Amino acid sequence: MRDSKTKAMAGPRPVVLSGPSGAGKSTLLKKLMQEYDSVFGFSVSHTTRTPRPGEQDGKDYHFVTREAMQAGINNGEFIESAEFSGNMYGTSKAAVQAVQAKNLICILDIDMQGVKNIKRTDLNPLYISIQPPSIDVLENRLRHRKTESEESLQRRLQIATVDMELSKEPGMFDVQIVNDNLEDAYGQLKHALLEEINVVKKVNMSS
Ligand code: ADP
Ligand code: 5GP
Repeated sequence: MRDSKTKAMAGPRPVVLSGPSGAGKSTLLKKLMQEYDSVFGFSVSHTTRTPRPGEQDGKDYHFVTREAMQAGINNGEFIESAEFSGNMYGTSKAAVQAVQAKNLICILDIDMQGVKNIKRTDLNPLYISIQPPSIDVLENRLRHRKTESEESLQRRLQIATVDMELSKEPGMFDVQIVNDNLEDAYGQLKHALLEEINVVKKVNMSS
């Protein structure tokens, strides 16, 4: 059944990036936003987790309490929300609308529960999966990033093991990218988005 609260919003087709924590989603996304800042806009999610060093409230996430987040969900302000590794995460309608209002391609960085939930809405994004070459490489990357406690790291690896299998399900993603060499993966990402990039560039140039 279609849900009226998530009716497709005006603007170019959004893009969902999903994949295990540590696969390289943020790294690829930042490169894309740097190269095409007039084409893409990031959907700033809400989360109850604590900010990492360097993360800015309102830019990387809206950092909120569990109470505030739950109140927003109860109030119908979220397109989707999920519990991930002990914290809540969610995409607000306002986050997506803010990007679409500027006629930019809205990029959502969400987990597998988010992917499944977005599929039940009218958002109709392009689904792109970013995967690590192996679980061992993923563990190395997460350790080198130095953002997780040992407990959080183990939890993320456990979730990754399940999600890496789930992401192979036919029809789950439109595009699968293995982020082994960063430049290769970035090239594949750009290639997958080229058509949409050109459409937005053309429309925004003529307006
Ligand atoms: P995610 O956003 O998916 O959780 P990140 O973008 O934070 O992942 O990447 C996890 C870590 O791996 C970061 O320290 C990042 O610098 C590093 N990384 C990302 N892509 C590559 C790559 N292709 N090769 C080596 N290290 C990478
Ligand atoms: P991190 O804590 O590493 O920033 O994010 C953990 C996981 O939460 C990642 O898989 C990321 O994609 C996901 N995530 C971030 N924002 C959202 C969101 O708004 N909704 C959902 N469902 N997942 C999110």
